[in-house]
Amino acid sequence: MHVPSDTEPRGPQADTVAVVGAGVTGLVAAFRLLEHGVPVTVYEAADRPGGVIQSTREGGYLAECGPNSILESSAKIRALIGDLGLEPRRLYSDPRAENRYLVRGGRPVCLPASPLKFFTTELFSLGAKLRLLREPFIPRAPAEVEESVAQFVLRRLGREWLDYAINPMIAGIYAGDPERLSVKHGFPRLHALEQRYGSLLKGQILGARERRARGEISKQEAPKVSFDEGLQVLTDTLAARLGPALHLRAAVTRLARTHAGWEVTVRRDGAESVHRHRAVLLAAPAYRLAELELVADGAPDLAPLGAIYYPPVASVVLGFRREDVPHPLDGFGMLVPAVERFHILGTLFSSSLFPNRAPAGHVLLTTYLGGVRAPELALKPESELVDLTRRDLAVILGVRGEPTYVHVRVYPKAIPQYELGYGRFQALMEEVEARAPGIFLAGHFRNGISLGDSILAGHDVAGRIAEWLKTGAAGAA
Ligand SMILES: Cc1cc2nc3c(=O)[nH]c(=O)nc-3n(C[C@H](O)[C@H](O)[C@H](O)COP(=O)(O)OP(=O)(O)OC[C@H]3O[C@@H](n4cnc5c(N)ncnc54)[C@H](O)[C@@H]3O)c2cc1C
Repeated sequence: MHVPSDTEPRGPQADTVAVVGAGVTGLVAAFRLLEHGVPVTVYEAADRPGGVIQSTREGGYLAECGPNSILESSAKIRALIGDLGLEPRRLYSDPRAENRYLVRGGRPVCLPASPLKFFTTELFSLGAKLRLLREPFIPRAPAEVEESVAQFVLRRLGREWLDYAINPMIAGIYAGDPERLSVKHGFPRLHALEQRYGSLLKGQILGARERRARGEISKQEAPKVSFDEGLQVLTDTLAARLGPALHLRAAVTRLARTHAGWEVTVRRDGAESVHRHRAVLLAAPAYRLAELELVADGAPDLAPLGAIYYPPVASVVLGFRREDVPHPLDGFGMLVPAVERFHILGTLFSSSLFPNRAPAGHVLLTTYLGGVRAPELALKPESELVDLTRRDLAVILGVRGEPTYVHVRVYPKAIPQYELGYGRFQALMEEVEARAPGIFLAGHFRNGISLGDSILAGHDVAGRIAEWLKTGAAGAA
């Protein structure tokens, strides 16, 4: 792919929108912009598109290095898959893999799937069950108070719910720590449930009715989706649709405002080139955006975004002979509460979730280590990561024998933590868009951390940019 290598601004791209970053957010935005009739140029620093999404097929195993599945919670996600012609390659998770396990007392215990089972489960004490019945009578917090997830859960549900339900859930979603995450920014829907209904239980019931009326599905009920060759099928297909508009090994370093739009400086193979664009979408991780030089009168510096914490996470994918794993693996996976004092955060039963992830007679387990709970663990040598994982899997699932497949991937900066005070970053992003017209920001650091959130963010920001080009751009130039 070609990027001009001189240092002069170039004309041919002057009418296009620059997209910085070809992770799923940038790719979806670019694809939808093309559909709006807006030409795009996508600059990607790495030598492959997809960002943290990466699927590897080796010797009959299919490993996901990063995310494992998309929650199809919105019609827009279904529409994207349809528009890309990927319906024949889409896989829904096996309905027999609906069980979720939590580790208690060193053993995996199945989460109750119905209210009736909840009252008989050994996972929670009688005290915790009774405490749940009190929840609707706990008053809501004042709207202006920003609580951590831990403070919120302790107030509404008590210690056991925090330790055995919320702590592992936060490890599974954010690789995060409930003491540090902001309930308002990290779980805006939960915060809104309390503010609106005064109770999570009441809100669950009434909210579900309203969602059904709107034709939406909650994240708990949404089907889990992947593709025959893994999630990378989605980003590879998006990249193929962009064709020569996608420039790899092209890192954006500087954005300067001109009378007609933006000059975007791109570094490729040690050489810099400058390109004119009418608008720029910033869809790279926040710690990379913080390094960009933004030259525009009155626009704030992007450097403070570098303070958003992305802890390291290691993903250890192991294959085993079926007979070496006594557990039935009849579920989605298991999460490990911090109070259980294991090394691992949790394990997905990957070969139970989707077909063709392991050769016949074998299983595939994907385990995560590190996160905010134990960042130093994720950065240990690969052999130690595998040993720690095997030790924990031996105790919890009874796994024995040598692994038949090993794939380790470390993300030194994995998932942004929407911690207490995250509002200052959200406010900065809004200020950048207001004071640097034509600059847009979208992605996991702004619109929610899940893949589904990123797909919706890409879709929505494309609509915002197309609208701005029609109505706002003339006034701003
Ligand atoms: C280990 C792990 C497991 C996860 N599991 C799940 C899961 O199972 N389900 C789920 O829903 N979500 C999961 N997530 C979250 C989800 O994968 C991400 O939120 C989502 O993929 C983020 O996409 P993005 O496009 O916003 O960012 P990214 O994927 O980070 O893409 C940003 C891109 O910008 C590029 N870039 C950086 N700097 C520049 C520059 N200067 N110029 C040009 N390009 C640049 C990068 O190279 C990268 O390709 C997981 C995340 C991780 C790390």
